[in-house]
Amino acid sequence: MSLDKTLERLSFSFTRADGLWADASARTRPGELACRPGCFGCCLGLFEISAPEALLVRAALERLDAPEREEIVSRSRRIVAETAGSFPGDPVAGILDPDRTEEADDRYFEVVADRACPMLELPTGRCRIYEARPLTCRTYGLAWRRQEELVHPPCTLNLVGAPAERQLATGVDLAVLEREDEALSSATRQHGIDPTLETTLAHVVLGTAFAPLAGS
Ligand code: SF4
Repeated sequence: MSLDKTLERLSFSFTRADGLWADASARTRPGELACRPGCFGCCLGLFEISAPEALLVRAALERLDAPEREEIVSRSRRIVAETAGSFPGDPVAGILDPDRTEEADDRYFEVVADRACPMLELPTGRCRIYEARPLTCRTYGLAWRRQEELVHPPCTLNLVGAPAERQLATGVDLAVLEREDEALSSATRQHGIDPTLETTLAHVVLGTAFAPLAGS
């Protein structure tokens, strides 16, 4: 499959997450949802992204104009350099260690908790790779559930004081997305990228495990 076809396949699959979020948000009642344009609290702090997500993000970065891409590269460089000592993996390759402990993970993500995502345009709060943003960005805000099990609470600004049953009723069901995983992995493998690798939105910009980014 050509890279363009793979990217199309990934994009199509990721838009399912947008649909799941839209369905879940339609189940909220007036006043329960505080998400609005310009609110970007959920774009502070890094998180793991998968290899298929990385592939899509890299392609979106290549399409940006040079000044925008350079600003992203420079912010990523600062984050990667300043936090390399606690990165639970190889900060040069930009890959998280698959055998890292949960403690090492927690330590690192605590260190970067107040760092703005390099893709975030400030002060507007616009995502510069919106169409290629990872699944976490597409589903954050409402609770995450796996069928009837609550696996992550909603953003603290949403469903304030709502009991677990209400969070479940308005949650995004991750099981639906996980059923797509195998197809996404095999599409990614075809382009020489190990689908089990994980990185972050700063490391995907600079990591040597990925193709050099134009102008970086
Ligand atoms: S990729 Fe976009 S939506 Fe996701 S955290 Fe970064 S700026 Fe926010």
